[in-house]
Amino acid sequence: VPQIGVLALQGDVVDHMRALEAAGARAVPVRRASELDAVEGLVIPGGESTTMSKLLEIFDLFEPVKKRLDAGLPVFGSCAGMIMLADEVLDGRPDQRSFGAIPMTVRRNAFGRQVDSFETEIAIEGVAGGPFRAVFIRAPWVERIGEGVQVLARVDSASDSGAGSGGEQGGRIVAVRAGACLATSFHPEVTPDARVHEYFVDMVRGADAGPVE
Ligand code: GLN
Repeated sequence: VPQIGVLALQGDVVDHMRALEAAGARAVPVRRASELDAVEGLVIPGGESTTMSKLLEIFDLFEPVKKRLDAGLPVFGSCAGMIMLADEVLDGRPDQRSFGAIPMTVRRNAFGRQVDSFETEIAIEGVAGGPFRAVFIRAPWVERIGEGVQVLARVDSASDSGAGSGGEQGGRIVAVRAGACLATSFHPEVTPDARVHEYFVDMVRGADAGPVE
């Protein structure tokens, strides 16, 4: 059974732990570097990326996590976690840091104020069994992807008025995969459907990045 950590400084940690267990993994909270060493995969939960960035530094975890990600540790970031994985963050705070694990630009709170939160059914590449109910809460979207980044899902945005205005190729990018990194704008941890977590657990099973000796 793969042991997967959930970064537990801030955000919806418990929901991810439950979803990982439902997907067949053993979930462990990660608050210190020694706990990070013991995991074969890491989830960065939804929450608030500015706060998470600050707490990572206060808890001396930013560099250890970055080092592990650079070494190929499989990682899944949802919402704020997606922001933490980007190499460029728009509408962020100037002192906000991110890991740069995925060559992509994300815009924070991108879907606009009137639509703080919404739910919609989406198709996710590589996730079989029909549409997935995606819950978006002050969600980012992906505005640029670099080389090696695969788009797994898009969604139409109400803030893209009219055809062709920004919603190129059928909507905004809300899920991506790049090597051992997975990121979603939405929160698969808040619905009982564990298919996205199963997808990630499969990624961890297939990866060759076991715990640090
Ligand atoms: N808007 C939040 C941020 O910028 C993300 C929201 C969420 O994770 N639900 O970090």
